[in-house]
Amino acid sequence: MKITNVTFLKSAANESGFPKFAYPEFAFFGRSNVGKSSLINMIVSRKSLVKTGAKPGVTRLVNFFIINENISFADMPGFGYADLPQNIRGKFMPLIKNYILNRDNLKIAFLLVDIRRTPDDMERNIVTELAGRDKPVAVVATKCDKLPKSRRLEAARKIAAEFMIDVDSIFFTSAKTGEGKREIHRLIGEYCI
Ligand code: GDP
Repeated sequence: MKITNVTFLKSAANESGFPKFAYPEFAFFGRSNVGKSSLINMIVSRKSLVKTGAKPGVTRLVNFFIINENISFADMPGFGYADLPQNIRGKFMPLIKNYILNRDNLKIAFLLVDIRRTPDDMERNIVTELAGRDKPVAVVATKCDKLPKSRRLEAARKIAAEFMIDVDSIFFTSAKTGEGKREIHRLIGEYCI
């Protein structure tokens, strides 16, 4: 899978704004600050297609991108931003849930977790919702450059245990070193003709 063309299509605040096409779609989920923008930029080899380090506000959107004119990426709003009050933090979840429930062309949900953190309820809820829709989830460990290699397996085992997945299915990535890019391209390529 070689990405040659990337264009931003639109942002949507709710289901009525989701584009109505049937391109195979790949969605990216994760807590605020997990490194989602950086990872998407790495995957598409663009420095700043998605703005990194953006401070999450109250209005969060799903951003849609068209890749190679025949697949799409959905950049989901980051959730769980710690500085926001609990009631506003929770506000982002219905949009995510709505997306999961309605997006028939979703092929794979990439769920990003910081390699140094243990996943919590919010992340587990997403996995449960996706499983209910029979949508495959690929767990992506981010910021792997920040953890010594010697501690990687132990960290990955913790993450795998929380999601009840095989530790070998976790993607190890770093937007800093480019680790994991090839593997993610390969996975996406399997769903595209
Ligand atoms: P988002 O909120 O999930 O979109 O996260 P960002 O991509 O904006 O990244 C949040 C912060 O983590 C920024 O300061 C990034 O520079 C940093 N960051 C993201 N990915 C990596 C990575 O792979 N390695 C390191 N060392 N820092 C990263």
